[in-house]
Order: sequence, then structure tokens, then C-alpha cells
Amino acid sequence: MVPSAFLFHFLFFFSLLISFSFSDSDSDSDSNSVGPTFHRVFPRPLIVEYPEFEAGLRCGAWRVAGEANNLGAWRTIPEECTEYVKEYMTGKGYAVDLEMVSKEAEEFARSVPLGSDGKDAWIFDIDETLLSNLPYYAAHGYGLEVFDHEKFNNWVEKGVAPAIEPSLKLYEDVLNLGFKVILLTGRSERHRSVTVDNLINAGFKEWDQLILRNSDDQGKRAVLYKSEKRSEMEKDGYRILGNSGDQWSDLLGSSVSVRSFKLPNPMYYIP
Ligand SMILES: [Mg+2]
Repeated sequence: MVPSAFLFHFLFFFSLLISFSFSDSDSDSDSNSVGPTFHRVFPRPLIVEYPEFEAGLRCGAWRVAGEANNLGAWRTIPEECTEYVKEYMTGKGYAVDLEMVSKEAEEFARSVPLGSDGKDAWIFDIDETLLSNLPYYAAHGYGLEVFDHEKFNNWVEKGVAPAIEPSLKLYEDVLNLGFKVILLTGRSERHRSVTVDNLINAGFKEWDQLILRNSDDQGKRAVLYKSEKRSEMEKDGYRILGNSGDQWSDLLGSSVSVRSFKLPNPMYYIP
């Protein structure tokens, strides 16, 4: 015979289990097509779904594919990834990734022997490499909106983009090591003055050259424009040892650097 106390406890906990299994919630009744009646009659199936988790995985895969240059040209971030990109950019993910790139670049910069002629160069892109436009993109959906040149130029002309701190550290390190720093940006020549002021206010106070798009460069794809400028550097006798940029078009093409360092940027793509 089963002791009566044991039987009482068994029946008590079993009844609790059944009551939980048959309970219903408003969210279930809203989202489940079989409706609340089903759940009141039958226990809910033991299948656990985490739609936000699944979306996070898809967006993580999308971001990694973008950083690895496996995606084709894209104009906006996937709509379902808006929150993911926001959290990445404003949380620790972006900051830690930037620090990793800067650290690896610094290790390379320290490891490579420099000549005595002052012709060892390190190229930096500007936007999302030295200066952050995150305040602008935060107000424009973190890349969900199609890029608007006029609105972005209005932001550039404010000249208030903050420094990307790990890049500022790398910039100071390569200068101290004896590299010549060359800034190569897709910004237009008409923004030279505001760009110089913005750079200086953000802590970037010294460079060998600041190259912006002139009238002949307008309309060129970034990868061609930047390749041509690197080719001119080589003709001027520079040895391009390092190149830091947030776009593959900063780094690929011809006259590429000995080592290229891709900074993260899941907000936009420039071919
Ligand atoms: Mg850039």
C-alpha cells in the first residue's frame, strides 16, 4: 500500500502541474491560431520558441557576413535588425570590436621595421574610422533609412563628430612610431575646412596629407578613387604599410597596403 501522506503530496503536486499546464495567457490567446479554448482543454505543447533569439541569430549572421565582405551591395540594414544594430552600436559590442582592431593594428605597426627616409605611411579613412557619425545615424534609424547626401552633409558641416577612441590611440601610436599619417576620405574638398576643424577638436592634430575628393573624383566609386590616390602615394615614394578603414572599398583595389585593418560598420555600405 502507498502511504497516505505520500499519496496526498503526490496528488497535490500533480494537481499543481496540471493547473499550470492548462493555464492560459492573453499573449497565447492572441498569438496562437488554435485559440484559447484549445489550451483550456489540452495542455500546451512542450515546444519553446524564442522569436527574438532567432532574429538575433539571423542579424548576427548578417553582420558577420557584411564584415567579411560576403554580402552584395546593400542600401539599408534589414528591417528586422534595426534593434540589433542599435544595441550593437550603442552597447559594448561595437566598442570591443573597435578595440580589437586597434590592438591588432598597433601590434603590426610595432612589429614592422621602418626605413630612415620618412616614407613609411599609414592611411586612415575618416568617417567611422577616425570620426564617428553615430549621433547622425542614431537619428536616422542606424542605417534603416536610405542614405541622404543632403542630410548627411548638413551633419558633416556641423563639425562635431566625436573621435573613435581606439582609433585615436592607434593614430597616436603610429605617429609616435614614426609613420607618416595620410588621411584619405570620401568627403568632398569643399568640406576640407570643417573636416580639419573637426579632426583637430577631436584630438587628431597632425598628418602628412589630407586627401579629399576633388572635382575630378566626383562620381567615382570609392574603391577606384582610393586606389588611384594610393597609387599616387606610391609614385611619391611612400611605402603603404598600414591602412585602416570601415569599408572594404577603403582597403581593396590596387596599391593596397601591406596590412589592412577593417573596422566594424554594420550601418552602411560604400562600394
Ligand atoms: Mg569610412
